[in-house]
Amino acid sequence: MKDFGYSVLKDETIDYDRQDMRIAKYVLLQEPSIQLCIGCGSCSGTCAAGHFTEFNIRRVHTLIRRGETRLLKKEIQKCMFCGKCQLVCPRGVNLRNLILSINKAIEQIG
Ligand code: SF4
Ligand code: SF4
Repeated sequence: MKDFGYSVLKDETIDYDRQDMRIAKYVLLQEPSIQLCIGCGSCSGTCAAGHFTEFNIRRVHTLIRRGETRLLKKEIQKCMFCGKCQLVCPRGVNLRNLILSINKAIEQIG
């Protein structure tokens, strides 16, 4: 077959019944404002760590909600806890407490 330089992406269907939602449940209890997030990306756009690394706090939210938490431990360590993201969030998500809750969840659940 001719190589056109690209390939078809793998199927990324998420089966929520099979995902590990323990971290999502823990974080939701600790910081319910995560439900207010509309995924606008303002947090990622202003993120201090995101300017120097590939860290993306909005992606972190998405991974938690989907129960795709395998990479979370490594990712969340890039956060400098500066709080800039929280200042620009139009929905008032308490991002600093959210990040703290994620760290606690990782400590307790793994
Ligand atoms: S800035 Fe707030 S509403 Fe927008 S993606 Fe970040 S957490 Fe969600
Ligand atoms: S607290 Fe973390 S996620 Fe928020 S802007 Fe600072 S480095 Fe980025």
